[in-house]
Amino acid sequence: MIEQLKLDFSSREVSSRVNPLALFAKLNGATSPERAMKDLCRRARLYCHMHEPPFGLMNVTRMLKVEVERSKHLPAKIRGRLERRATGYVIVVNEYLSWRRLRSTVAHELGHVLLYRSLSRHPEAISALREPEQWAHVEALCDLAAAELLMPLDDLWGFAFPDILSVYNSELHMSLYDRYLVSYTALFKRHLDLGVDLVLLWRAIPSTMLTWRISSAYHKGNYFIPPGMSATKHLFPNILDGINLDESGWRITAPEMQFTFQGRVLEGECAIVDSTPRRAQPLFEGFRVADEPNLSLGAVMLMRFKS
Ligand SMILES: [Zn+2]
Repeated sequence: MIEQLKLDFSSREVSSRVNPLALFAKLNGATSPERAMKDLCRRARLYCHMHEPPFGLMNVTRMLKVEVERSKHLPAKIRGRLERRATGYVIVVNEYLSWRRLRSTVAHELGHVLLYRSLSRHPEAISALREPEQWAHVEALCDLAAAELLMPLDDLWGFAFPDILSVYNSELHMSLYDRYLVSYTALFKRHLDLGVDLVLLWRAIPSTMLTWRISSAYHKGNYFIPPGMSATKHLFPNILDGINLDESGWRITAPEMQFTFQGRVLEGECAIVDSTPRRAQPLFEGFRVADEPNLSLGAVMLMRFKS
């Protein structure tokens, strides 16, 4: 998912042009920033005795001496940010976030803290982290931290083995959602690390079950079908045609697929499940809690294409 950075110190002296992510990897004895971040997250979980999901983040914030504060004053599009105050780091999160999104946001900001702490003796590297050319890498690395803190890949593979497409069903989809207590968005994005090229969330237009539109799309590599596309108008043939809803849920009738999108023939495998076979609200610290808005009349489609 994230392009690995080569450790190349020879061409760049430790100066204002230092490669801060390569230094981050080196200081953590890793061959790439991604490996360094994964290892730091694993060690943080172990240090805080977090052995079984769902992973709470309170112990990690305590260990890193980070405070979390909810704010009504952040713009709606800002989910959270990290502030350095005289007392230490404070993660300010938007009060309007659902509790599932809040967890992902806090975990992402903890990724920034892990970066800063590793580079604490290298102020020039911390300054370099803020250079525009580093933003995309830094953000991707902190997204990785959030995923590793809340949904470690090793744990997830235990459910996806031997191939997520062959074992995926509505029950598994919901059990992962409740095992890690993350948002749908975070969960769907994580599927891309399990050998899936494209995750589409379809919604049926309520007036007619025959019209399906893509409401969200997450992709890796070159395969992308944007939100808004409809199954009947933009994809040929209609790839949802073979799917029937009955009392037992969605039937996957066409694991092999071939269709045309914008003149390009796409061929591969897919798995499709009902996105909300919810029977009861999730348990959090022993209590049933209100959840994200219902994604009724929705279907999740995982796709892997032949290259
Ligand atoms: Zn960030």
